[in-house]
Amino acid sequence: PFDVLIVGGGPAGAAAAVYAARKGIRTGIASERFGGQVLDTLGIENFVSVKETEGPKFALALEEHVRHYDVDIMNLQRAKALKAGSDLIEIELENGAALKARSVILSTGARWRKLGVPGEDQYRNKGVAYCPHCDGPLFKGKRVAVVGGGNSGVEAAIDLAGIVAHVTLIEFADQLRADAVLQRKLASLPNVTAILHAQTTEVTGDGQKVNGLVYKDRATGVDQRVELEGVFVQIGLVPNTEWLKGSIELSRHGEIVVDAKGQTSVPGVFAAGDATTTPFKQIIIAAGDGAKAALGAFDHLIRSSAP
Ligand code: FAD
Repeated sequence: PFDVLIVGGGPAGAAAAVYAARKGIRTGIASERFGGQVLDTLGIENFVSVKETEGPKFALALEEHVRHYDVDIMNLQRAKALKAGSDLIEIELENGAALKARSVILSTGARWRKLGVPGEDQYRNKGVAYCPHCDGPLFKGKRVAVVGGGNSGVEAAIDLAGIVAHVTLIEFADQLRADAVLQRKLASLPNVTAILHAQTTEVTGDGQKVNGLVYKDRATGVDQRVELEGVFVQIGLVPNTEWLKGSIELSRHGEIVVDAKGQTSVPGVFAAGDATTTPFKQIIIAAGDGAKAALGAFDHLIRSSAP
């Protein structure tokens, strides 16, 4: 069996693999797509010490760093179940195989919920963005919309209002769902307009980049158009944890509940990165979290009775 088996090969899983392998213990990493969300990222400018890089380049660097160590890399493998036995933990793969390990680190990440409207995919990274911390500065002095009036949408609007020229916040329901304190802050900002009962129906562009957004006013049924350069979609980040339901404690948002060492509700099972309750979903945070979970797993191994 593996001493540490990591499920998920994004920044969290890669950092966990490097930290575990450097302890000289048997380490494996199984992932559906090594690199994770970073593969879908254009520019990265906030991983400290790397002034700027591109997603695929960063993903390759992650893999090269892991390959530098004695790590069993199992790419294109999707986990479908976790079974905790009395001493070994078993990860069942979609291909029918089962991997056994003395400790497991879950780092299956998350995915942004999409609007599912015309133009969204076409203009992704060409005006359509999902992460204000990542892409906000690209829209300095421009007009943007934030779609979604929950906490993340209103936080994004407040954040962006300090960078961009104007923010239009678009909410489907008749009221914002964010905490009152955030709503008060939002209302105090001169360059934010909130539009309620508005259903976003299309992101428009000139073929190269975004130039507007169309929404249907749900009160009147009339289509309205907003001219702008960017659209931030903030309608939820979905953790890739559906396969863990029932075997491990998840938050009501589906995030794996972890403590300060990355320990989950199941002894010997640790978790890291966007799939967990660790706040702020960023590469540097996921990587730090992966390192922490690996050290947590190592700590667990040296305390457990098995040789
Ligand atoms: P992920 O990167 O999501 O990796 C998850 C891994 O698990 C993948 O290998 C996946 O294939 C695998 N996996 C999932 N389910 C299974 C399964 N059942 N079995 C096996 N493997 C599985 N952050 C920044 O800090 N700066 C940026 O500029 C930035 N830009 C971004 C731009 C975009 C378009 C996106 C989508 C995200 C961006 N982020 C950015 C966020 C950042 O990419 C994430 O916070 C980070 O990748 C999370 O790392 P992770 O390892 O937790 O998960």
